[in-house]
Amino acid sequence: MNRAARRAGAQKPGRSVEGLRKAVAAARVPGAPPAATERARRIVLAYLDAAAQKGAGVDALVSNMKSGVPAVTAARVALSQPQEDAGYACAHGCAFCCILTGADGGTITESEARTLHAALAPLAGQPDGRGWHPRACPALDPETRACRAYEARPTICRSYVSFSAEACEQISLGVPAEGSGVLGAHATSLQVHSLCRAALKGTAAVATYALAEIAAAAVEGVAIEAALKRARHKPRELADELKRVSEGASRVGRAQ
Ligand code: SF4
Ligand code: SF4
Repeated sequence: MNRAARRAGAQKPGRSVEGLRKAVAAARVPGAPPAATERARRIVLAYLDAAAQKGAGVDALVSNMKSGVPAVTAARVALSQPQEDAGYACAHGCAFCCILTGADGGTITESEARTLHAALAPLAGQPDGRGWHPRACPALDPETRACRAYEARPTICRSYVSFSAEACEQISLGVPAEGSGVLGAHATSLQVHSLCRAALKGTAAVATYALAEIAAAAVEGVAIEAALKRARHKPRELADELKRVSEGASRVGRAQ
C-alpha cells in the first residue's frame, strides 16, 4: 500500500473480497506501534487470501473478522510453534491463575466467547470454580481445580504461564510477584483484532467480551445472545488491553 492510500485512512470494505483487502491494507490502529500494525496487517491479509482461496465470500470474511477468527487463528499458530523447555511451573490442577484478579477476567473475542459458552452451557447448575474461591473463574472445577472448558479456553488462558506457582498464589492475593505473565500470542491476537476493527469501521462493529462474565452467564444457564450482551466490553477496552499488554501488565492473574 502506498503512503497516499495510508494517509487517506481506512477504506470501506465494499461488497467484494478485493474491497475488503483494500480496507485492511489502508487500516490504521491509533496508538499501536507501526511494526506491530504491519505484522498484524500481513497476518490478516494472509488469512483473507487463504480463506478466499477456499471459497469464502466477502460476507463470511467480514463475519469472521468481526468475531475474531483471524485473531484467534494467529494466536493458535503462535502458540503451536515449538518452544524450548522453558521450565514453567504450570501443572494440572494448579489454578491460582484462574482466580480472576482483574475487573472482568480477561479480554476475549466473540468467537472465543461463543466457544467457551458452548462448552460450559451443558454444565449449567453444577458447582463451579467459585465454590473453591469467590473470584475463581466459573469454568473451573471446584474439586479438581481443572478447567472444565480446557479445549475451549481462550487465548488469554492459553498464553498465561509462570515459572512459579508461589508467585501466582501471591498475585491471586493481590501481592505483586515476578515470574508470571502472558506469552506474545495474546498481544498478537489483540493487534490482529484491533486491525480488523479498524478495517471494518463503518461496516461491522468488532467487539470484545469479558471472560468472567461469559463463563458466569454460561453456568447460570443464560443463553448465548444474552450472555454476549451482558459480557460485551465498552469499545475502548480493546485499546486499553493492548496498551496494558504492551506495557507488560496482564489482566489474568495479576494484581491490578
Ligand atoms: S500460571 Fe501459575 S497458577 Fe497457573 S498453572 Fe501455571 S504455575 Fe499454576
Ligand atoms: S477458562 Fe481460563 S480462567 Fe477459566 S478455568 Fe479455564 S483456564 Fe482458567
